[in-house]
Amino acid sequence: MLTTFYIKTYGCAMNIADSNTIRNLLTSYSLQESSDWKSADLIILLTCSIRQQAEDKVAGWGIKANEEIFEDKIVILTGCMAQRYNRSSNSTIDKYEKLLQKRFPWITHLINIKDINQLPKILGIDNNDLIENPNINFDRNNKYQGLFSISHGCNNFCSYCIVPYTRGKLFHIPKEEILKDIKDFISNGGKLVTLLGQNVNSWEDDGDNIVDLLKEISNIKGKFWINFISSHPKDFSDELIELITTNEKLLKHCHIAAQSGSNRILRLMNRGYTKDRFLNICKKIKTSCPDFRITTDVIVGFPSETEDDFNDSISLIKECRVEMVYIGKFSPRESSVAYDMNDDVEFNVKKDREEVIRKLVNKVREKKHKEWIGKALPVLVISKNKGITYYNHEVLLEKEYKEGSIQNIKIIGYSRSGLVGI
Ligand code: SF4
Repeated sequence: MLTTFYIKTYGCAMNIADSNTIRNLLTSYSLQESSDWKSADLIILLTCSIRQQAEDKVAGWGIKANEEIFEDKIVILTGCMAQRYNRSSNSTIDKYEKLLQKRFPWITHLINIKDINQLPKILGIDNNDLIENPNINFDRNNKYQGLFSISHGCNNFCSYCIVPYTRGKLFHIPKEEILKDIKDFISNGGKLVTLLGQNVNSWEDDGDNIVDLLKEISNIKGKFWINFISSHPKDFSDELIELITTNEKLLKHCHIAAQSGSNRILRLMNRGYTKDRFLNICKKIKTSCPDFRITTDVIVGFPSETEDDFNDSISLIKECRVEMVYIGKFSPRESSVAYDMNDDVEFNVKKDREEVIRKLVNKVREKKHKEWIGKALPVLVISKNKGITYYNHEVLLEKEYKEGSIQNIKIIGYSRSGLVGI
């Protein structure tokens, strides 16, 4: 009989939200979560396959965990890797399926994340074990921070990306469903609503767009904050800029995925915008709210990327005063268009470019962090000594505050990852 489970999550915020879904589902059937995989009867691996490196991590974990120990356990692989596996009509995927079986012989089930609500049935958990209806959209263990997926999949087909193949076509969650879950979360003490989607700002439902949705959420009674990740520049409207810079409930932070500052590379990536478009968005945001925090994603070493192209990315980061960046070294992913391009930028060059961006962004961030010292910032206290600022920095608290309260905290220092307050 299954009594305990352990979840290992790789990859993006979408996967974190999916792990919440699974957690809620299993705890609804009386299973207990274990913080140690060794003592769990059931292990769920929520995988990412955006880069080869992400898949290698799963293999590495299996080796570390040791096959024999899996003998009496059920090990489920879900998330993007499992979704690639499930597309068995495609010959490339058949090859992938064999590869998976060879690499991960200890996996007992592969489940498409879209079918995850079938998990109790697959595990043979009796309906009588259901203690309450699982709310699948937020993590009950995390009272103050709620992650809400508002869309799944993607139709954009950026040339380097396999998400449209792994997560499928774009699907928007209906507005009423989202609002119901958020109201439920807030009435239970929730303080930070985070909307999630591969292109969260492209959400729409029956004539409503992301601006309408955010306005409706902000009209829900109560003291709470809202943010949304991650945004696609091509769908970042002026109305959205106005709302995020003026509405009190919206955090003054946005993650907008630039990927490159070179128009030529952006075209090859099939991103659907130019460098100027991205700069304009940032300029409008910063003009209206100079402290607004902008973070982004950049790929280095995309096929044919020259020094000039790379310098365009550098100038974009500088002009937008980007305070944090997820840097990806280009790696060809089977099924994507860029897989057939010539991966001609040497690995060492990719590494050097990654380092240049890292150093630049660290400098920008340090400068901004220094500016906060001595000032008071609104902070949501999420545990005894941890909080989140109104600009979405993590903050270490040197004094104890009431969990779940929003306080004005004086910033006295900073670390690599965030701020320190008292
Ligand atoms: S927008 Fe592009 S990078 Fe983002 S998920 Fe869709 S295809 Fe991938």
